Amino acid sequence: MLPEIILRAREAIGDKTPMCHDCGALCGAACCQPDADGQGGVYLFPGEAALLENCAWARVTPAPFAPMLVCDGMCERAARPLACRIFPLTPVRGKNGKWTVRMDVRARVMCPLASSGLSGLDPAFPRAVRDALRIVAEEPEGDAFLERWLALEEEYRKPLW
Ligand code: SF4
Ligand code: SF4
Repeated sequence: MLPEIILRAREAIGDKTPMCHDCGALCGAACCQPDADGQGGVYLFPGEAALLENCAWARVTPAPFAPMLVCDGMCERAARPLACRIFPLTPVRGKNGKWTVRMDVRARVMCPLASSGLSGLDPAFPRAVRDALRIVAEEPEGDAFLERWLALEEEYRKPLW
């Protein structure tokens, strides 16, 4: 997928964030912290690795689901990946078949906004993320990637036993 699509999607989100203020102050930017074993990263959307391959503050590494950007919790904000910009939301198909958003179940373990759902967010944020995802879905490869992303997120919704 062309990196231009990713740039358009990023632009659709612009400077919108989950809250009107810096939500990272609530949690110490929990979603940017590495795991206990020092590992951490975000999946890159199709075409996005090309935008980040020479960045000085993180590295792109292969992973089974998609290439992953591994950072140490600090980044150049204007260059951060789309996955960071949409968190704590995740794509889901609406009843009309179009992509929309819901709270990502994986946010429950770290994000203080997860329990309040979409109604706890600045309403401009879910709208902007939805628009960005629909831009990604304009390309068949982007649409297929969102389907795989949704399937992965749904795996985390299943009870462990
Ligand atoms: S974990 Fe949630 S509240 Fe904290 S910085 Fe990330 S999105 Fe904001
Ligand atoms: S790239 Fe930036 S926004 Fe994304 S996890 Fe790393 S530090 Fe956080």
